[in-house]
Amino acid sequence: MTTVTASEAAYVVAALLFILSLAGLSQHRTSRSGVVWGIAGMVVALAATVGLASKDITATGLVLIALATAIGAGIGLWRARVVEMTGMPELIAIMHSLVGLAAAFVGWNGYLDVDAELSGSLLGIHHAEVFIGVFIGAVTFTGSVVAYLKLSARIDSRPLTLPGKHVLNIGALVAFVGLTVAFVARPNLGLLIAVTVIALALGAHLVASIGGGDMPVVVSMLNSYSGWAAAASGFLLANNLLIVTGALVGSSGAYLSYIMCKAMNRSFISVIAGGFGTPAAAADDGEQGEHREISAEETAELLRDASSVIITPGYGMAVAQAQYPVAELARKLRERGVEVRFGIHPVAGRLPGHMNVLLAEANVPYDIVLEMDEINDDFAATSVVLVIGANDTVNPAATDNPASPIAGMPVLHVWEAANVVVFKRSMAAGYAGVQNPLFFRENSQMLFGDAKQRVEDILRSLDALDTPVKEMAGTTR
Ligand code: NDP
Repeated sequence: MTTVTASEAAYVVAALLFILSLAGLSQHRTSRSGVVWGIAGMVVALAATVGLASKDITATGLVLIALATAIGAGIGLWRARVVEMTGMPELIAIMHSLVGLAAAFVGWNGYLDVDAELSGSLLGIHHAEVFIGVFIGAVTFTGSVVAYLKLSARIDSRPLTLPGKHVLNIGALVAFVGLTVAFVARPNLGLLIAVTVIALALGAHLVASIGGGDMPVVVSMLNSYSGWAAAASGFLLANNLLIVTGALVGSSGAYLSYIMCKAMNRSFISVIAGGFGTPAAAADDGEQGEHREISAEETAELLRDASSVIITPGYGMAVAQAQYPVAELARKLRERGVEVRFGIHPVAGRLPGHMNVLLAEANVPYDIVLEMDEINDDFAATSVVLVIGANDTVNPAATDNPASPIAGMPVLHVWEAANVVVFKRSMAAGYAGVQNPLFFRENSQMLFGDAKQRVEDILRSLDALDTPVKEMAGTTR
């Protein structure tokens, strides 16, 4: 078997491993094995690619490849070890930006280093591939950088609303089509620079135009774009594995975006087109009225007298790492005969499934962790809801205020319960930058402070409330 045939066979194995990886990642139970399949696929793919190219690579070239691989792997390992769970989306976004940048570089290289054997229509196809690769790569690059800046709160997460923003986006697409035709007919550096600049601006503008509440869809959409960018590079480099892998990432990312859009009641096209068709609503920061505060001791008393409790966790629980005391609180209340359940919003936290992972980590039984659709009708019959570090996902403005930037997004109907206790540190808005009228409702009370500390305070207060009862029981025996 020649090196080329062996490498091509290895590509098929790597592609199968990637498919197994995606299948594994689709469920919590199998996700660890999914990661292992993915790592194995990548090792096979890298070895096969070097094997395939080895006949054209000098010894120095091989050393450089080994060095680059070691540096890349080192940075990857370091980042993966130090990243907080709450920092994952921004890490993913910055990774996508690198895929986009690589695709744009591959495109530029395809222009500067044309295979001398190409001629006629094949040359035309090559130049179209160059142009499309640079365009998708550059859009992905700046789009992902802006997503990174928004997700890491380095820039405001509110949507940018330039006058005529949709005309700008459509104009950029029309210019891309026109420039592609011109480039295929007469390739030149000026056109390539022009499309690169337009694509860089379009990527930044598309993501900047999307509000914080819609960022989950943007992250999965950029995931999809990075896949298509890799596939475009695969065509240019005549690398079948890159085409297959890019198509897998592109289509799975597009499907995830579709699922997220459905969960958030958003139009897929609208989000791809930078918020096309959504109202250019201003953040609703007006006067909301007075809020009431509650102490940890009073919350413990409320819980002692409750018959049913629903806990709705959000990003703040992840920041505070409050899942362990929260799990302990649920256990204690259940021991007392209180019905305790968790209500999970599909985009609570900063990752799909973020809350489920945290609660599973703290050994909360799966059967009391319910999805939004399963629990939303039960709030009205609930004594106490504990909103632990959630904000946008429990905001009634999404259902009551058509002018709100999050209007139409399904939310947990916590306000229908008899009592709502909101755990947060201040009156600040949530990720979407929208004030939450829940905090000012008559049945809502704010428990300020770090969520972990406050839940621990409640646990202590519950114990203290128990003590006299136990002592009295001891004296009467
Ligand atoms: P939000 O981001 O809306 O709000 C979190 C709240 O937690 C804040 O109001 C904050 O208030 C509070 N908080 C932060 N730290 C602490 C702490 N240590 N202790 C107590 N409270 C704390 O959270 P949600 O989960 O409700 O909503 C998620 C948002 O993120 C949605 O807008 C969603 O679209 C977006 N998003 C989701 C992604 C996903 O895939 N799940 C990805 C990207 C974005 P304060 O500062 O006053 O304490």
